[in-house]
Amino acid sequence: MQHVTVIGGGLAGCEAAWQAANRGVKVRLYEMKPHKYSEAHHLPGLSELVCSNSLRGDALENAVGLLKEEMRRLHTLFMEGAEATKVPAGGALAVDRTLFSEYVTRKIESHPNIEVVHEEITRIPEEGIVIVASGPLTSGALADEIGRLTGNYLYFYDAIAPIVAADSIDYNKAFRASRYGKGDGDDYLNCPMDEEQYKNFVQEILAAEKVEPKSFEKVVHFEGCMPIEEMASRGVETLRFGPMKPVGLVDPRVGVEPYAVIQLRQENMEATMYNLVGFQTKLTWPAQKRIFRMIPGLENAQFLRLGSMHRNTFINAPKLLLPTCQLKEDSRILFAGQITGVEGYVESASSGFVAGVNAARLASGETLIVPPAETAIGALARHITNTEAEHFQPMNVNYGLFPPLVGRIKKKEKRGLLAQRGLEALEKWLPEVAA
Ligand code: FAD
Repeated sequence: MQHVTVIGGGLAGCEAAWQAANRGVKVRLYEMKPHKYSEAHHLPGLSELVCSNSLRGDALENAVGLLKEEMRRLHTLFMEGAEATKVPAGGALAVDRTLFSEYVTRKIESHPNIEVVHEEITRIPEEGIVIVASGPLTSGALADEIGRLTGNYLYFYDAIAPIVAADSIDYNKAFRASRYGKGDGDDYLNCPMDEEQYKNFVQEILAAEKVEPKSFEKVVHFEGCMPIEEMASRGVETLRFGPMKPVGLVDPRVGVEPYAVIQLRQENMEATMYNLVGFQTKLTWPAQKRIFRMIPGLENAQFLRLGSMHRNTFINAPKLLLPTCQLKEDSRILFAGQITGVEGYVESASSGFVAGVNAARLASGETLIVPPAETAIGALARHITNTEAEHFQPMNVNYGLFPPLVGRIKKKEKRGLLAQRGLEALEKWLPEVAA
């Protein structure tokens, strides 16, 4: 049987190595620490949580809570380590970061099928099954290599605009139209502002608290992804000539163009999520929620993702990957973790699960798995390979990614039903993936 090479001993790489090794495959896991550290890694061990120690909410009403419950039932090393090292955190699951890393390191190093090699990989091996799980801060030489392999579909900067739940938008205020009626003519939702609303909005943006860039994050603003606060600081009219431009957008209810407009673009095929076009920002999350709820139509918006900008190496997964985590152009190479465009600790580990199981199956000639779309792990996997490639951006798990429920369902019952449907789908799927 072929062995599996895993590049990167972070959250995704460790889970992938663990799953493959538990299925009887020999794994060689390459981790560049402690010889070389990224700008954010500091601990010598594997599976380091680089920033917060929180794995976020544990309740099933929260999609990340469902994802964690699925990962418990899938016997992931990530959840085993989290349970063993958890600290009190109210409704969230938080861990002692040092103990968590030590726990996972011990388990990986003592697994008879895993060999850990502390070395920086700069070339992807030309033969054998390889999982690339080198994370958002992949070292430079390897990033160049991945860039070559994926043909310019590797990104280094992540300028994320907020996303709102479609059912939290006020459709009495937002109107459908695309600029000058292009496309289908009603491709966008538009939130109109009058002059007073616009000027107040700009003032609030200028006064709001911003997240300071990390020392290693060079503040380079490319044309087309400049943060809104930077634009606002250049003059009161700048946003109105940028992402809030009203020209060609006539509000059908009054027959004129508004003073300014915030456009919302459909984010997924099911139209359960909309993003605020051009609204990448470094405002703090509380400031974003407060200020963006000033937008007419978004007063009660539920934010599925908030805006951010940080260095992040990720590939254009919809263009490059199969739902099995395999590279379309070379199916012996799999990708896992944040480099595939999932965002977050739990999400990265969950993608390592899929890649690890599939690498083992490739090695033993079995059919590969794709998690059911109704599960959180499947909704996320489907999102990264099935979304529109042109606007692809990293994504946390959220219920907007799930296939919608059929029939009219009260909003407050929706999440519970989605969680229940997810766990039922998972239970049916478990025998197929059992180690
Ligand atoms: P990582 O956990 O980063 O693992 C990649 C591993 O590969 C590292 O150990 C690295 O040393 C190694 N490596 C890199 N290049 C090579 C190479 N060439 N050869 C060998 N080894 C290599 N998510 C959250 O949920 N909460 C947060 O608070 C949070 N904060 C973040 C803060 C920062 C600064 C960043 C960059 C990201 C943050 N994330 C956070 C997002 C993300 O979920 C984590 O980065 C997560 O650790 C990603 O998991 P991963 O396995 O893909 O990568």
